[in-house]
Formats: sequence, C-alpha cells, structure tokens
Amino acid sequence: MKISQINLETIPDSRGEETIEVVMVSGDLKVTSSVPAGKSKGKLEVFSVASAIALSKLEGIKSEILNSDFSQVFEFDNFLKKIDGTPDKLNLGGNLILVLSICFTKLLAKSNNLQTYQLVGEMLEKTPQRFPYLYFNLIGGGLHAQDSLPLQEYILVTKFASPSKGLEYAKLMVEKLREDILNNFGEIRTGDEGTFSVKSADPALGLEILNRNLDDQNVSLALDAAASTFYNNGEYKIGEKAFNTMQLLDLYQDLSVKFPLLSIEDPFSEDDQQGFVKICQTFKDKVWIIGDDLTVTNKTLIQKAIAEKQVTAVIIKPNQIGSVSETLEAIKLAQENSLKIIVSHRSGETNDDFIADLAFGAQADGLKSGAPTQPQRLVKYNRLIEIEREVRKDG
Ligand code: PEP
Ligand code: MG
Repeated sequence: MKISQINLETIPDSRGEETIEVVMVSGDLKVTSSVPAGKSKGKLEVFSVASAIALSKLEGIKSEILNSDFSQVFEFDNFLKKIDGTPDKLNLGGNLILVLSICFTKLLAKSNNLQTYQLVGEMLEKTPQRFPYLYFNLIGGGLHAQDSLPLQEYILVTKFASPSKGLEYAKLMVEKLREDILNNFGEIRTGDEGTFSVKSADPALGLEILNRNLDDQNVSLALDAAASTFYNNGEYKIGEKAFNTMQLLDLYQDLSVKFPLLSIEDPFSEDDQQGFVKICQTFKDKVWIIGDDLTVTNKTLIQKAIAEKQVTAVIIKPNQIGSVSETLEAIKLAQENSLKIIVSHRSGETNDDFIADLAFGAQADGLKSGAPTQPQRLVKYNRLIEIEREVRKDG
C-alpha cells in the first residue's frame, strides 16, 4: 500500500495537555489517530518526544515513507524502528512511531475492505466473537485525583455478553454514585478519568461505596492500586500508615473477603517483585493479579513475569511500547502463556477509539477505559457497541 499524505497536528488531550494527532491518506482513503499520555507511568515505558519535536522528526522521514510501499504492519513498524535505532525509541519517540503505526494499521484494514478489529484478528490468527469485560474506573484516587483515596482506581467490571448492556449498567451506576457521594460527603469532586473522587485515607472506602450500590450477578469489582506511586524505601505509605509487603498483602486479602474482587492491578511496586510472587501464590486463580507498571506491554518483561510467576494477567497499553506490532507480540506471548489480557486507555486520553478494535480483535478479557462520563472514554465503549451491531448483523 502506498501512502500519499501524512499530516501531524498538535491537539489537547483530556487533561488539556498537548499531544499529537496524525491524518494519513492512501488514494481516497483517510484515517486519523492520536496518542494518549499516562501520569502513573512504569519506569520502563518507551520514550515520548514533545509535539514540536515529533513534527520536525516526521518532516525528516516523510518523503522516505511516501516513496515506499508497505504491505504489512510489521514491515511498516520495522522500517520506523530501524530509522529510530534505539530500544527505547529515544530518537523518533514512541508516541510518533505509535501514531503512525496505528494510522497505517487502520489504513491497511480499509484498503483491504476490513474493519480494524478484523485485521487485528487476522494478525493474531483469531476469529473475534466474544466481547471483553468492561472495566469502568468510577472512583479515582492516587495521582489521578487531588486530595483523595490512596489507591488509584476503584473499578466496576461489567461481565455481560453485550457491551451495550455493560455501558447502560455503568451509566446507571454513575447516577447512583452521584447521589450516594453527595449524601455522604456533601460534595461532588472528580478525577482525571471522569471518575468521582472522595477525600479519605481509607483504602477500602472506594470499594465500599461501589459495593453498596451493586445489584446484579453480572458485575464485579476491581482495583488498580498503582502501588509504585506510594512506595518508597521498602515501605508503602497509605494515609499516615506505613505497610511492608506482607502487611499490604494482608490488606488485599481482607478486601477480597469483603468485596467481590475480580482483579487487582499493580498491587505492589514494580521494584517489589517478590510482592507480586507472594500475592500470586496467595490468590492462585481466585483474583487475577494484573501487571501494568511491572510489565509495560514489553514482551521481555512479560516473559520474565511469566517465568517468575509474578502475574496471572497483564495490562496492554500500546503507548507503553510504541508500535502496533510490538503490542501484538506482547498480547500473543501473554495469551500463549494463559495470562488474561486487559487492553487499557491512559489517564490523559484522546478521541481515538483504536483500543476498542484492538481489544475485540485480540479477544481480550477486558477493556479498561475509565468512567462513562468523558467523551474520550466513551468513544472506546461506543466503538465496541458499534462493532457489536455489525457482528450481530453479519452473524
Ligand atoms: C493505569 O495506571 O492503569 C492508568 C491508566 O494510569 P496512567 O495512564 O496514568 O498510567
Ligand atoms: Mg495501572
């Protein structure tokens, strides 16, 4: 496929911070992609360049791209990775490589008369059928909300076969929570992902609020502790209290007895890998133990986590690794080793809905895209519903 035009612009993300958007054209086909940004990032995520640098780097390689002819996503990505020449994408930036890679994937799908999820499915040799569980972060804390709960995300997980039912349930839950929080805390405060936030140092409180508003067998709760953000010198600081690894594990055990917890993400710091081993031994298959900062969508780190039995699931965020093909390699490795995969947005998001196609095409176990209150989060859930309509029509 020949690419005829590439234009890069700077746009604001959901936090109002600058990010990049690319429009790519091939003949009369046109696609758009834009990259999100994390705040509680893993130390080993690839490098991102500033928007102005991305623009000048693109100008430097544009004619070479336009003069080439690529027939596969891996080929396109390898071409960019070779120009970059560094493992951490220090030169072109993971954000620039990824936005081009996603555009190329969408365009290649279109030029083959496929939906993006169908091309993803083909690349992973899967037949997409089942929809992922939806992970709605409804109460935010940690780095994502000022003066709030100590753990980062208190999540409603909907497990309906239909994503439209899941979204409907989550929207009703938002209304119930608004009333609950207003009655009990006297004010409505919000966090980065369109979540509610409450002022308290009690790590269980977010789960308590969600749990007293649950009323369906098809829903569960989940946590993203993002524990690296409150870990220092071998200690976890929660409010005024300091916990060591075993004490924090006791807290998670207590929470899993009190609440219907499906999964815990980043329960320990990426620098406390023994904590991950211990919690996997404790929970076995009862609660999914998800790596995010620990594994950063990087196949070498996922391989290590598998070998050392540190996780039973991984978060997949394309911008942690910086290309579609490497994201697919990470998914393949995780799935071949029976890990659950949860495709995820970032806390600073855009209107790009690629991750919905990625989640369905890869037959992910979950899609995590924040609260159903911000447009940048809703587009992902709505894209899944659009896919659902199309799949039902064809099937
Ligand atoms: C997360 O930690 O899972 C998350 C979405 O946050 P961020 O994008 O800030 O890393
Ligand atoms: Mg996380």
